[in-house]
Amino acid sequence: MSAWLEGRAIENRHWTDALFSLRVEAPRLPFEAGQFVRLALDIEGERVARPFSFVNAPEDPVLEFYGVIVPGGPLSPRLARIAPGDALYIAPNPSGFLVLSEVPDAEVLWLLATGTGLAPFLSILRTETPWRRYASVVLAHGVRFARELVYRETIDAVARARGARFRYVSFVTREPASGSLAGRIPAAIGDGRLERAAGLALASATSQVMLCGNPDMLKDAGAALAARGMKKHRRRSPGQITVESFW
Ligand code: NAP
Repeated sequence: MSAWLEGRAIENRHWTDALFSLRVEAPRLPFEAGQFVRLALDIEGERVARPFSFVNAPEDPVLEFYGVIVPGGPLSPRLARIAPGDALYIAPNPSGFLVLSEVPDAEVLWLLATGTGLAPFLSILRTETPWRRYASVVLAHGVRFARELVYRETIDAVARARGARFRYVSFVTREPASGSLAGRIPAAIGDGRLERAAGLALASATSQVMLCGNPDMLKDAGAALAARGMKKHRRRSPGQITVESFW
């Protein structure tokens, strides 16, 4: 593998005690929206790396990553503490298949995320591709507490730019929150609340679904979608569901 790239933090925004976004100046790094790359720090003489999805669009010269502090984790607590001007390393090889080049055309593109699984969808929404290929795009984001509904300025900007073609549905599971649905995304797929909130049908003939986030959500949402006749999309066996196993 070729050499690590060296980047420099230009901003470390803390949304909550655990959630942070890093903006990084780095040499140009080609990737497709939805992909991830390994970020690393040198810790006690060892280069410690973990994957992070890009939040920025590929053409944006500043890289952006959204993370959660994994308690006791080797890297995220330190990344959360880095300050503007500090160095970090970026692997030269972005990868991952949660990308629109792997997703068939449809009328409606459903982007369903929990927690930091939002990141790759922000990158996708910042590109022109979904708007060229899908009549409507729904972003659903599930979090525990309302303060974890992050990137609202970005989401509002997409809503302003795309009008009725874009629908945002938020879910807050552990407290009542006005403007958000209660409970989990898979339950709302099952009982029709997600469709009612989006004002669109989640039908296998007209929908493609991308999932990213908590591994249990991926499983449960996959089952709820299977109950509606959807299956994983594979190049040799087309379906409607594209998933990134996030951690
Ligand atoms: P989370 O546990 O992913 O919860 C986010 C949302 O997902 C919550 O609303 C939660 O609902 C929901 N959820 C959980 N299980 C679900 C399921 N089976 N179906 C549908 N929705 C489900 O919370 P987080 O804050 O993003 O992350 C929590 C912890 O996960 C972090 O503190 C970290 O330790 C770990 N994590 C690790 C990594 C990693 O790379 N190692 C990455 C991200 C997160 P409920 O409130 O009902 O549970």
